Amino acid sequence: MERATGHDRTQATKPTLYVVATPIGNLKDVTLRALDIFRHADVIAAEDTRVTSRLLNHYGIDAKKLLSLHEHNEQRSAPRIIAELEAGRSVALASDAGTPAFSDPGARLVHAVREAGYPVVPIPGANAAAAALSASGLFGPHFLFYGFLPSKPSDRRKALEALTAFPYMLVFYEAPHRVIEAVVDLASALGGSRRIVIARELTKLFESIHECGLGAAAEWLSGNADRVKGEFVLIVEGAPPDDDAEAAQAKRTLEVLLEELPVKQAAALAAKITGARKNELYALALELKRES
Ligand code: SAM
Repeated sequence: MERATGHDRTQATKPTLYVVATPIGNLKDVTLRALDIFRHADVIAAEDTRVTSRLLNHYGIDAKKLLSLHEHNEQRSAPRIIAELEAGRSVALASDAGTPAFSDPGARLVHAVREAGYPVVPIPGANAAAAALSASGLFGPHFLFYGFLPSKPSDRRKALEALTAFPYMLVFYEAPHRVIEAVVDLASALGGSRRIVIARELTKLFESIHECGLGAAAEWLSGNADRVKGEFVLIVEGAPPDDDAEAAQAKRTLEVLLEELPVKQAAALAAKITGARKNELYALALELKRES
């Protein structure tokens, strides 16, 4: 059932910026709504006009006006796009693949357009991180989308140091010529025992999704030249819960409370403070009392 959203295609004739997701490989992964917007937009601002033209041609769409908007001219182009909106025209923004402003240009333009008082409407669709996560088989309610790690090895290692204790899944984008060094650094920063999912060429002919221990990832990638070709999403399990550190903290809290309180009360309070189990703390408190 179609829901009235106020953003149907008739709006493509109003001065609005549409942020349109396009396929990440397979041209069929474009939404009906995206095609509708491209068909009716007065202007299409594309990261690479040749790439977007291929998609438009495939669907027999003649762009009324095609502009180029990429990371190097995004700031400069914003006034031009706003001038189009001021003239009453609608603009569709597309990056080369997937969702604009998602490790892609677009955010600055969106900011400028909204500041100028024009509506910005997302047209959701393909995204490499979401596709990889959905088929990764790694689970957990939370993840951090990191995007591209720094390309300079020393910066990359520093960036990874900040992520070592992070308890949620980590999602990276990586280029083929850096994927091996990236997994080597990931293993040395995060430890070899975490699981990694290497998602390559999603939605394309040579799509592959491989899961292994982080410590075995570089060897697996090096095992066959085809495995390092194409585009990659890497998903790594989060840091395991630090049980030892939590137990040490609970014990220390209990020791301090036992100096002032009876065993039962100290255990109950320590459980409240640290989140550890009351029964376990009670048993530990008895043991500590006996030892002292
Ligand atoms: N805006 C895009 C999105 O929504 O996913 C991301 C653009 S970013 C410049 C390009 C990176 O996304 C690639 O280097 C790769 O890491 C990842 N990527 C894009 N398409 C992919 C695909 N088909 N399979 C795996 N990764 C892909």
